[in-house]
Amino acid sequence: MKIRNYTFQEFADRVKEFHGYEAPGIIVGGFMVDLAYGHLPEGWLLDALSETPKCLPDAIQLLTPCTVGNGWLTVVNVGRFALTLYNKENGEGVRVFIDAAKLEAWSELKTWFFKLKPKKEQDRDLLAAQIKEAGNRICGMQTVKVADRFIKKRARGLLGVCPRCREGYPIADGPSCLACSGKENLFQ
Ligand code: ZN
Repeated sequence: MKIRNYTFQEFADRVKEFHGYEAPGIIVGGFMVDLAYGHLPEGWLLDALSETPKCLPDAIQLLTPCTVGNGWLTVVNVGRFALTLYNKENGEGVRVFIDAAKLEAWSELKTWFFKLKPKKEQDRDLLAAQIKEAGNRICGMQTVKVADRFIKKRARGLLGVCPRCREGYPIADGPSCLACSGKENLFQ
């Protein structure tokens, strides 16, 4: 059983190094990324979309060239534990999600996923064993085409100095930056 180029244990060690502990969500996410890769043609330049900010972005960043920083990974929090790897040119790709019905066969995985018990009452060893045994069998998959706004992200063009905050900002955003114009409220 491999997770991309790692054995299960190698990947668990990488997760621990990267995240501080063997986060179940990243291990599960590793199987999800692996499953998606297996159904995409080789040689595609991929972008990634995560539907949650929790754990899946870390799995994607550990196993693909896509990071938030290089712009190839977009996180949109719709609260679903799902990811899509897609062709950055045409948006076609594969979405992998946790299939709630398939979790019925894995009691502790189900308890963890749906937070049916407080974390300290969950059986961590049983959870780890079930994650390893289940692998990608708790996943569902569909072919998708992502929305236009996720394809070939527009460059933001020339930068200028905002007349209000005196910081650099994309001139295409208007006469002042989006923070000063009140279109994006970042602070109270
Ligand atoms: Zn400004």
